[in-house]
Amino acid sequence: MLGGKMKAIVKNENAFGATLKEIPIPSINENEVLIKVQAASICGTDVHIYNWDQWAQKRIKTPQVFGHEFSGIVAETGKHVTNVKIGDYVSAETHFVCGTCVPCLTGKHHVCTHTKILGVDTAGSFAEYVKVPARNVWKNPADMDPAVASVQEPLGNAVHTVLENSQLAGGSAAIIGCGPIGLMAVAVAKAAGASRIAAIDKNDYRLALAKKLGATITIPADEEDPLEVIDTLTGGEGIDLVCEMSGHPTAITQGLKMAANGGRFHMLSLPERPVTVDLTNDVVFKGLTVQGITGRKMFETWRQVSHLLESGLVDLTPVITHQFPLEDFEKGFDLMRKGRCGKVILIP
Ligand SMILES: [Zn+2]
Ligand SMILES: [Zn+2]
Repeated sequence: MLGGKMKAIVKNENAFGATLKEIPIPSINENEVLIKVQAASICGTDVHIYNWDQWAQKRIKTPQVFGHEFSGIVAETGKHVTNVKIGDYVSAETHFVCGTCVPCLTGKHHVCTHTKILGVDTAGSFAEYVKVPARNVWKNPADMDPAVASVQEPLGNAVHTVLENSQLAGGSAAIIGCGPIGLMAVAVAKAAGASRIAAIDKNDYRLALAKKLGATITIPADEEDPLEVIDTLTGGEGIDLVCEMSGHPTAITQGLKMAANGGRFHMLSLPERPVTVDLTNDVVFKGLTVQGITGRKMFETWRQVSHLLESGLVDLTPVITHQFPLEDFEKGFDLMRKGRCGKVILIP
């Protein structure tokens, strides 16, 4: 047993913000692994927790160490663990699944009915150490930058959204919402061979990043009408694959309208409220396929992520815009709240 204390960012009170605290290093059971965190990335989910919005108030039980996207070195293994050893350089799938429900038994672990999420339901990775079930561990290539390795989990969301049942080579994609995962989706669409990639957002900083990552056109949604621009761009054909990553009702409506007849609409975003859409004209008569995307396929998506990064087909360097020591987490959250950043990494 490692024992001792560690630094961690704790959601301590039912209010805005978080606190850097000294807390005990987690103790592991026979099937778990303790990892010394090298890099932890701030996710939109963490910003919800930090802001203490409605979702966080319902879901999070304080005190809670949060954060879930990370890379690190295995420091301790439970006695039944055989797939990893001390010293391995790893990241982890952040959805802990039961393995016994019908989706799990039929190979659809990403929609497990009993999913628990690291840093939401269990102690997270904004800390010097984090524990995860051994079966969630993913080994990283030795030469992968810890910051890049820490964002494989959200890259997995982008990969799952863009590549799920889609045939993009020579086709068109629109990415609506260019937060970090949207930016990664632009890079994945490019790697998948999309010939036209439209990136849509209101944030000029993030649209500039989208351009760097391979967007062939960027559409500032507050200055131009995305539907008009797309209509001109595609000669009225519409977009083969629309990826909705904004959660905004207007953007969702526009996304369905800009999709091509027979096209696909993949939705990763989580709108706060029910959204009214014209199913008759925008889905049924179009023969549109609408697909919800949650998490990453275990572990098909992780394999794609690894290979896309290793081969250089996807280069996330432009997405990782800031790195801070763990102690300066408030600076990182401030940037995320303002949207003047791509991915922000904390280094314990
Ligand atoms: Zn995340
Ligand atoms: Zn399950």
